[in-house]
Amino acid sequence: MRAVVYEGPRTVGVEEVPDARIERPTDALVRITTTNICGSDLHMYEGRTDLETGRVLGHENLGEVVEVGEAVDRVKVGDLVCMPFNVSCGFCENCEKGLTAFCLIANPDPNIAGAAYGFADMGPYNGGQAELLRVPYADFNCLILPPEAEERQTDYVMLADIFPTGWHATELARVRAGETVAIYGAGPVGLMAALSSTLKSASKVFVVDRHPDRLKLAEEIGAIPIDDSKVAPVEAIMDQTEGMGADRGCECVGYQAHDPEGHEHPNMTLNNLVRSVRFAGSIGVVGVYVPQDPKSPDPLYKEGEVAFDYGLFWFKGQSIGNGQCNVKAYNRELMRLIRTGRARPSWVVSHELPLGEAPEGYEHFDHRDPGWTKVVLHPNG
Ligand code: NAD
Ligand code: ZN
Repeated sequence: MRAVVYEGPRTVGVEEVPDARIERPTDALVRITTTNICGSDLHMYEGRTDLETGRVLGHENLGEVVEVGEAVDRVKVGDLVCMPFNVSCGFCENCEKGLTAFCLIANPDPNIAGAAYGFADMGPYNGGQAELLRVPYADFNCLILPPEAEERQTDYVMLADIFPTGWHATELARVRAGETVAIYGAGPVGLMAALSSTLKSASKVFVVDRHPDRLKLAEEIGAIPIDDSKVAPVEAIMDQTEGMGADRGCECVGYQAHDPEGHEHPNMTLNNLVRSVRFAGSIGVVGVYVPQDPKSPDPLYKEGEVAFDYGLFWFKGQSIGNGQCNVKAYNRELMRLIRTGRARPSWVVSHELPLGEAPEGYEHFDHRDPGWTKVVLHPNG
Protein backbone atom coordinates (compact mmCIF):
# COMPACT_ATOMS: atom_id res chain seq x y z
CA MET A 1 0.00 0.00 0.00
CA ARG A 2 1.05 3.64 -0.39
CA ALA A 3 1.74 5.57 2.79
CA VAL A 4 3.30 8.79 4.08
CA VAL A 5 6.56 7.76 5.71
CA TYR A 6 8.93 9.72 7.95
CA GLU A 7 12.31 9.84 6.21
CA GLY A 8 14.20 12.28 8.45
CA PRO A 9 14.01 15.91 9.56
CA ARG A 10 11.63 17.88 7.31
CA THR A 11 11.38 14.97 4.88
CA VAL A 12 8.40 12.72 4.32
CA GLY A 13 7.97 10.44 1.34
CA VAL A 14 5.02 8.67 -0.19
CA GLU A 15 6.26 5.11 -0.37
CA GLU A 16 5.11 1.58 -1.07
CA VAL A 17 5.09 -0.25 2.31
CA PRO A 18 3.72 -3.66 3.40
CA ASP A 19 -0.09 -3.61 3.69
CA ALA A 20 -1.52 -2.97 7.15
CA ARG A 21 -3.28 -6.15 8.26
CA ILE A 22 -5.20 -7.75 11.11
CA GLU A 23 -2.60 -8.78 13.70
CA ARG A 24 -4.81 -9.61 16.69
CA PRO A 25 -8.40 -10.91 16.93
CA THR A 26 -9.53 -7.55 18.37
CA ASP A 27 -8.24 -5.54 15.35
CA ALA A 28 -10.14 -4.03 12.44
CA LEU A 29 -8.67 -3.07 9.11
CA VAL A 30 -9.86 0.30 7.78
CA ARG A 31 -9.55 1.62 4.23
CA ILE A 32 -8.71 5.27 4.89
CA THR A 33 -10.64 7.82 2.86
CA THR A 34 -9.84 11.00 4.83
CA THR A 35 -6.84 11.72 7.07
CA ASN A 36 -5.35 15.00 8.29
CA ILE A 37 -1.96 16.54 8.84
CA CYS A 38 -1.84 17.89 12.41
CA GLY A 39 0.35 20.35 14.30
CA SER A 40 1.39 17.32 16.36
CA ASP A 41 2.82 15.66 13.23
CA LEU A 42 5.16 18.65 12.96
CA HIS A 43 7.00 17.68 16.17
CA MET A 44 8.12 14.55 14.33
CA TYR A 45 8.41 16.18 10.90
CA GLU A 46 10.76 18.86 12.26
CA GLY A 47 13.01 16.15 13.71
CA ARG A 48 12.33 17.12 17.35
CA THR A 49 11.60 13.51 18.36
CA ASP A 50 13.41 10.20 18.06
CA LEU A 51 10.78 8.73 15.70
CA GLU A 52 12.45 6.05 13.62
CA THR A 53 12.58 6.53 9.87
CA GLY A 54 10.13 4.35 7.97
CA ARG A 55 7.21 4.87 10.35
CA VAL A 56 3.88 5.74 8.74
CA LEU A 57 2.48 9.04 10.07
CA GLY A 58 -1.12 10.12 10.64
CA HIS A 59 -3.40 10.00 13.69
CA GLU A 60 -6.56 11.83 12.46
CA ASN A 61 -8.24 9.06 10.50
CA LEU A 62 -11.60 8.22 8.96
CA GLY A 63 -12.50 5.38 6.62
CA GLU A 64 -14.45 2.25 5.84
CA VAL A 65 -14.01 -1.03 7.72
CA VAL A 66 -12.89 -3.70 5.24
CA GLU A 67 -12.06 -6.60 7.59
CA VAL A 68 -12.50 -7.44 11.27
CA GLY A 69 -10.71 -9.86 13.58
CA GLU A 70 -12.66 -12.80 14.97
CA ALA A 71 -13.14 -11.17 18.40
CA VAL A 72 -14.72 -8.00 16.95
CA ASP A 73 -18.50 -8.09 17.11
CA ARG A 74 -19.81 -4.52 17.30
CA VAL A 75 -18.01 -3.03 14.33
CA LYS A 76 -18.96 -4.49 10.94
CA VAL A 77 -17.40 -4.57 7.50
CA GLY A 78 -18.80 -1.59 5.58
CA ASP A 79 -19.12 0.71 8.61
CA LEU A 80 -17.79 4.23 8.13
CA VAL A 81 -15.70 4.96 11.22
CA CYS A 82 -13.58 7.69 12.76
CA MET A 83 -10.84 6.71 15.20
CA PRO A 84 -9.68 8.77 18.18
CA PHE A 85 -5.99 9.56 17.80
CA ASN A 86 -5.52 7.72 21.11
CA VAL A 87 -5.11 3.95 20.87
CA SER A 88 -6.69 2.62 24.06
CA CYS A 89 -7.73 -0.79 25.36
CA GLY A 90 -11.05 0.10 27.01
CA PHE A 91 -10.63 -2.06 30.10
CA CYS A 92 -7.60 -0.84 32.08
CA GLU A 93 -8.04 1.28 35.19
CA ASN A 94 -7.56 4.56 33.29
CA CYS A 95 -9.77 3.64 30.31
CA GLU A 96 -12.54 2.61 32.73
CA LYS A 97 -12.44 6.15 34.13
CA GLY A 98 -12.61 7.71 30.67
CA LEU A 99 -8.92 8.63 30.70
CA THR A 100 -8.24 6.96 27.37
CA ALA A 101 -5.26 9.21 26.61
CA PHE A 102 -3.49 7.46 29.49
CA CYS A 103 -4.31 3.83 28.67
CA LEU A 104 -2.14 1.48 30.71
CA ILE A 105 -2.22 -1.39 28.23
CA ALA A 106 -1.92 -0.08 24.66
CA ASN A 107 1.63 1.24 25.05
CA PRO A 108 4.06 -1.66 25.54
CA ASP A 109 6.55 0.71 27.25
CA PRO A 110 5.73 0.24 30.95
CA ASN A 111 6.95 3.79 31.69
CA ILE A 112 4.45 5.49 29.38
CA ALA A 113 0.67 5.57 29.79
CA GLY A 114 -1.07 6.33 26.50
CA ALA A 115 -0.62 5.37 22.87
CA ALA A 116 -1.40 6.87 19.47
CA TYR A 117 -1.07 6.12 15.75
CA GLY A 118 2.12 7.23 13.99
CA PHE A 119 3.68 8.92 16.99
CA ALA A 120 7.09 8.95 18.68
CA ASP A 121 7.08 7.23 22.10
CA MET A 122 3.37 6.43 21.85
CA GLY A 123 3.57 2.75 20.98
CA PRO A 124 4.42 0.81 17.82
CA TYR A 125 1.29 1.73 15.83
CA ASN A 126 1.56 2.94 12.27
CA GLY A 127 -0.47 5.95 11.18
CA GLY A 128 -3.35 6.35 8.77
CA GLN A 129 -1.83 8.64 6.15
CA ALA A 130 -1.99 5.49 4.08
CA GLU A 131 -4.40 3.38 2.07
CA LEU A 132 -5.02 1.03 5.02
CA LEU A 133 -4.89 1.33 8.83
CA ARG A 134 -4.81 -1.39 11.48
CA VAL A 135 -7.11 -0.34 14.34
CA PRO A 136 -6.39 -2.17 17.64
CA TYR A 137 -9.23 -2.83 20.14
CA ALA A 138 -11.57 -1.96 17.29
CA ASP A 139 -14.86 -2.38 19.14
CA PHE A 140 -13.71 0.24 21.62
CA ASN A 141 -11.85 2.63 19.32
CA CYS A 142 -14.11 2.90 16.27
CA LEU A 143 -16.75 5.61 16.38
CA ILE A 144 -19.40 4.43 13.89
CA LEU A 145 -20.57 7.39 11.83
CA PRO A 146 -24.07 8.07 10.47
CA PRO A 147 -24.67 7.50 6.71
CA GLU A 148 -24.65 11.24 5.96
CA ALA A 149 -20.98 11.39 7.08
CA GLU A 150 -20.02 9.85 3.73
CA GLU A 151 -20.65 13.23 2.07
CA ARG A 152 -19.29 15.35 4.96
CA GLN A 153 -16.04 13.58 5.76
CA THR A 154 -14.05 16.79 6.30
CA ASP A 155 -16.41 17.67 9.18
CA TYR A 156 -16.52 14.21 10.76
CA VAL A 157 -12.75 13.57 10.50
CA MET A 158 -12.22 16.44 12.95
CA LEU A 159 -13.67 14.10 15.62
CA ALA A 160 -10.40 12.12 15.55
CA ASP A 161 -8.50 14.87 17.30
CA ILE A 162 -8.76 18.62 16.93
CA PHE A 163 -12.46 19.19 17.69
CA PRO A 164 -12.34 17.07 20.88
CA THR A 165 -8.94 18.59 21.73
CA GLY A 166 -10.25 22.15 21.38
CA TRP A 167 -13.24 21.13 23.51
CA HIS A 168 -10.86 19.53 26.04
CA ALA A 169 -8.98 22.85 26.33
CA THR A 170 -12.24 24.54 27.35
CA GLU A 171 -13.10 21.69 29.77
CA LEU A 172 -9.67 21.91 31.41
CA ALA A 173 -10.15 25.69 31.62
CA ARG A 174 -13.69 25.12 32.99
CA VAL A 175 -15.36 27.51 30.51
CA ARG A 176 -19.01 28.25 31.34
CA ALA A 177 -21.77 30.28 29.69
CA GLY A 178 -21.27 34.02 29.85
CA GLU A 179 -17.56 33.87 30.62
CA THR A 180 -14.69 35.46 28.72
CA VAL A 181 -11.97 33.23 27.24
CA ALA A 182 -8.44 34.05 26.05
CA ILE A 183 -7.03 31.57 23.55
CA TYR A 184 -3.37 31.62 22.51
CA GLY A 185 -2.79 30.07 19.08
CA ALA A 186 -5.09 30.25 16.04
CA GLY A 187 -3.87 27.02 14.51
CA PRO A 188 -6.49 24.31 13.94
CA VAL A 189 -6.52 23.43 17.66
CA GLY A 190 -6.89 27.03 18.87
CA LEU A 191 -9.67 27.59 16.32
CA MET A 192 -11.47 24.50 17.69
CA ALA A 193 -11.07 25.85 21.23
CA ALA A 194 -12.66 29.08 19.99
CA LEU A 195 -15.50 27.13 18.35
CA SER A 196 -15.99 25.12 21.56
CA SER A 197 -16.09 28.32 23.63
CA THR A 198 -18.77 29.80 21.41
CA LEU A 199 -20.74 26.52 21.56
CA LYS A 200 -20.56 26.86 25.35
CA SER A 201 -21.96 30.43 25.05
CA ALA A 202 -18.88 32.29 26.19
CA SER A 203 -19.58 36.03 26.11
CA LYS A 204 -16.24 37.05 24.55
CA VAL A 205 -13.60 34.83 22.97
CA PHE A 206 -10.18 36.35 22.26
CA VAL A 207 -7.83 34.54 19.90
CA VAL A 208 -4.15 35.59 19.79
CA ASP A 209 -1.86 34.81 16.85
CA ARG A 210 -0.01 36.70 14.16
CA HIS A 211 -1.25 35.02 10.98
CA PRO A 212 -4.01 37.18 9.45
CA ASP A 213 -5.60 34.28 7.56
CA ARG A 214 -5.95 32.20 10.74
CA LEU A 215 -7.21 35.18 12.75
CA LYS A 216 -9.81 35.76 10.04
CA LEU A 217 -11.14 32.21 10.57
CA ALA A 218 -11.47 33.00 14.29
CA GLU A 219 -13.40 36.16 13.43
CA GLU A 220 -15.74 34.19 11.14
CA ILE A 221 -17.13 32.29 14.15
CA GLY A 222 -17.53 35.43 16.27
CA ALA A 223 -14.22 35.46 18.16
CA ILE A 224 -12.20 38.64 18.67
CA PRO A 225 -8.87 38.36 16.82
CA ILE A 226 -5.74 39.82 18.44
CA ASP A 227 -2.66 40.16 16.24
CA ASP A 228 0.32 40.10 18.59
CA SER A 229 2.65 41.37 15.87
CA LYS A 230 0.69 44.64 16.03
CA VAL A 231 -0.56 44.97 19.63
CA ALA A 232 0.51 43.71 23.06
CA PRO A 233 -1.96 40.85 23.60
CA VAL A 234 -2.15 40.96 27.41
CA GLU A 235 -2.99 44.67 27.41
CA ALA A 236 -5.51 44.20 24.59
CA ILE A 237 -7.31 41.52 26.63
CA MET A 238 -7.19 43.62 29.83
CA ASP A 239 -8.66 46.59 27.94
CA GLN A 240 -11.60 44.52 26.75
CA THR A 241 -12.33 42.84 30.11
CA GLU A 242 -12.65 45.96 32.26
CA GLY A 243 -9.08 45.52 33.50
CA MET A 244 -9.91 42.15 35.10
CA GLY A 245 -8.47 39.72 32.58
CA ALA A 246 -10.33 36.87 30.91
CA ASP A 247 -12.13 34.38 33.14
CA ARG A 248 -10.52 31.43 31.37
CA GLY A 249 -7.50 30.78 29.18
CA CYS A 250 -6.54 28.11 26.66
CA GLU A 251 -3.01 27.31 25.53
CA CYS A 252 -3.12 25.91 21.99
CA VAL A 253 0.47 26.46 20.87
CA GLY A 254 2.87 24.24 22.83
CA TYR A 255 6.63 24.27 23.33
CA GLN A 256 7.25 25.59 19.83
CA ALA A 257 5.80 28.96 20.92
CA HIS A 258 7.71 31.80 19.35
CA ASP A 259 7.58 35.57 19.24
CA PRO A 260 6.27 37.34 16.13
CA GLU A 261 9.88 37.67 14.90
CA GLY A 262 10.23 33.87 14.90
CA HIS A 263 12.45 33.34 17.99
CA GLU A 264 11.39 30.34 20.04
CA HIS A 265 10.27 30.92 23.65
CA PRO A 266 8.71 27.78 25.12
CA ASN A 267 7.34 29.73 28.10
CA MET A 268 5.89 32.68 26.20
CA THR A 269 2.26 31.62 25.95
CA LEU A 270 2.12 30.28 29.53
CA ASN A 271 3.41 33.61 30.84
CA ASN A 272 1.02 35.58 28.63
CA LEU A 273 -1.88 33.42 29.85
CA VAL A 274 -1.05 33.91 33.53
CA ARG A 275 -1.11 37.66 32.83
CA SER A 276 -4.22 37.59 30.60
CA VAL A 277 -6.41 35.52 32.96
CA ARG A 278 -8.05 37.07 36.00
CA PHE A 279 -7.39 36.34 39.66
CA ALA A 280 -8.89 32.91 40.53
CA GLY A 281 -9.36 32.11 36.86
CA SER A 282 -8.25 28.89 35.21
CA ILE A 283 -6.17 27.76 32.27
CA GLY A 284 -6.31 24.66 30.05
CA VAL A 285 -3.13 23.64 28.24
CA VAL A 286 -3.50 21.31 25.25
CA GLY A 287 -0.46 22.60 23.33
CA VAL A 288 2.17 19.89 23.63
CA TYR A 289 5.13 20.20 26.01
CA VAL A 290 7.53 17.27 25.70
CA PRO A 291 9.51 16.17 28.78
CA GLN A 292 12.62 17.78 27.33
CA ASP A 293 13.65 19.33 24.05
CA PRO A 294 17.38 18.95 23.40
CA LYS A 295 17.08 21.37 20.48
CA SER A 296 15.38 24.16 22.44
CA PRO A 297 17.12 27.55 22.43
CA ASP A 298 16.03 27.86 26.09
CA PRO A 299 18.79 26.29 28.26
CA LEU A 300 16.31 25.33 30.99
CA TYR A 301 13.83 23.63 28.67
CA LYS A 302 16.72 21.84 26.98
CA GLU A 303 16.98 19.96 30.29
CA GLY A 304 13.21 19.67 30.64
CA GLU A 305 12.09 22.68 32.71
CA VAL A 306 9.62 25.27 31.50
CA ALA A 307 10.28 28.27 33.74
CA PHE A 308 6.93 30.05 33.60
CA ASP A 309 5.94 32.72 36.08
CA TYR A 310 4.76 30.43 38.84
CA GLY A 311 4.90 33.18 41.50
CA LEU A 312 2.32 35.31 39.67
CA PHE A 313 0.26 32.21 38.85
CA TRP A 314 0.17 31.32 42.57
CA PHE A 315 -0.46 34.91 43.69
CA LYS A 316 -3.43 35.15 41.32
CA GLY A 317 -4.84 31.89 42.70
CA GLN A 318 -5.22 30.41 39.25
CA SER A 319 -5.55 26.75 38.43
CA ILE A 320 -4.30 24.82 35.43
CA GLY A 321 -5.19 21.58 33.68
CA ASN A 322 -3.23 19.98 30.90
CA GLY A 323 -2.34 16.98 28.79
CA GLN A 324 -3.43 14.86 25.87
CA CYS A 325 -7.12 14.83 25.06
CA ASN A 326 -9.20 11.78 26.01
CA VAL A 327 -11.00 11.86 22.66
CA LYS A 328 -13.55 9.20 23.57
CA ALA A 329 -14.80 11.35 26.43
CA TYR A 330 -16.27 13.80 23.91
CA ASN A 331 -16.44 12.41 20.37
CA ARG A 332 -19.99 10.99 20.51
CA GLU A 333 -21.57 14.23 21.72
CA LEU A 334 -19.50 16.38 19.37
CA MET A 335 -20.63 14.08 16.54
CA ARG A 336 -24.21 15.06 17.39
CA LEU A 337 -23.31 18.75 17.15
CA ILE A 338 -21.96 18.10 13.66
CA ARG A 339 -24.94 15.98 12.67
CA THR A 340 -27.48 18.58 13.76
CA GLY A 341 -25.57 21.37 12.04
CA ARG A 342 -24.69 23.16 15.29
CA ALA A 343 -20.98 22.74 14.50
CA ARG A 344 -19.20 22.72 11.14
CA PRO A 345 -15.55 22.13 12.07
CA SER A 346 -14.48 21.80 8.42
CA TRP A 347 -14.43 25.59 8.21
CA VAL A 348 -10.69 25.33 9.12
CA VAL A 349 -9.88 23.13 6.10
CA SER A 350 -7.77 24.99 3.57
CA HIS A 351 -6.55 22.13 1.35
CA GLU A 352 -7.74 18.69 0.30
CA LEU A 353 -4.93 16.76 -1.43
CA PRO A 354 -4.31 13.28 -2.80
CA LEU A 355 -1.82 11.23 -0.76
CA GLY A 356 0.91 11.81 -3.35
CA GLU A 357 0.93 15.54 -2.54
CA ALA A 358 1.46 14.99 1.20
CA PRO A 359 5.11 16.20 1.07
CA GLU A 360 3.97 19.60 -0.27
CA GLY A 361 1.18 19.68 2.32
CA TYR A 362 3.67 19.08 5.14
CA GLU A 363 6.07 21.70 3.85
CA HIS A 364 3.48 24.48 3.51
CA PHE A 365 1.71 23.67 6.78
CA ASP A 366 5.06 23.56 8.62
CA HIS A 367 5.96 27.01 7.25
CA ARG A 368 2.49 28.26 8.21
CA ASP A 369 2.38 29.63 4.68
CA PRO A 370 -0.53 32.04 4.19
CA GLY A 371 -3.75 30.13 3.58
CA TRP A 372 -2.40 26.72 4.70
CA THR A 373 -4.45 26.23 7.88
CA LYS A 374 -5.51 22.56 7.79
CA VAL A 375 -4.49 20.00 5.22
CA VAL A 376 -6.69 16.97 4.57
CA LEU A 377 -5.44 13.97 2.56
CA HIS A 378 -7.54 11.48 0.60
CA PRO A 379 -5.44 8.29 0.26
CA ASN A 380 -7.96 6.39 -1.83
CA GLY A 381 -8.88 9.09 -4.36
P1 NAD B 1 -0.19 24.89 14.61
O1 NAD B 1 1.28 24.84 14.79
O2 NAD B 1 -0.75 24.94 13.25
O3 NAD B 1 -0.77 26.13 15.42
C1 NAD B 1 -0.06 26.82 16.40
C2 NAD B 1 -0.35 28.30 16.23
O4 NAD B 1 0.23 28.99 17.34
C3 NAD B 1 0.26 28.90 14.96
O5 NAD B 1 -0.76 29.54 14.20
C4 NAD B 1 1.29 29.89 15.50
O6 NAD B 1 1.41 31.08 14.71
C5 NAD B 1 0.74 30.22 16.87
N1 NAD B 1 1.72 30.73 17.82
C6 NAD B 1 3.05 30.44 17.93
N2 NAD B 1 3.59 31.14 18.95
C7 NAD B 1 2.60 31.88 19.49
C8 NAD B 1 2.53 32.80 20.56
N3 NAD B 1 3.63 33.10 21.30
N4 NAD B 1 1.35 33.40 20.85
C9 NAD B 1 0.24 33.11 20.12
N5 NAD B 1 0.22 32.24 19.09
C10 NAD B 1 1.40 31.63 18.77
O7 NAD B 1 -0.68 23.60 15.37
P2 NAD B 1 -2.13 23.01 15.82
O8 NAD B 1 -2.45 21.87 14.92
O9 NAD B 1 -3.13 24.07 16.00
O10 NAD B 1 -1.68 22.41 17.23
C11 NAD B 1 -1.37 23.28 18.31
C12 NAD B 1 -0.75 22.51 19.45
O11 NAD B 1 -1.70 21.56 19.97
C13 NAD B 1 0.48 21.67 19.07
O12 NAD B 1 1.42 21.69 20.14
C14 NAD B 1 -0.11 20.28 18.94
O13 NAD B 1 0.86 19.27 19.10
C15 NAD B 1 -1.07 20.31 20.09
N6 NAD B 1 -2.09 19.24 20.11
C16 NAD B 1 -2.39 18.70 21.31
C17 NAD B 1 -3.33 17.72 21.41
C18 NAD B 1 -3.68 17.16 22.76
O14 NAD B 1 -4.31 16.10 22.83
N7 NAD B 1 -3.36 17.82 23.85
C19 NAD B 1 -3.99 17.27 20.26
C20 NAD B 1 -3.70 17.87 19.04
C21 NAD B 1 -2.74 18.85 18.96
ZN1 ZN C 1 -3.70 15.71 15.62
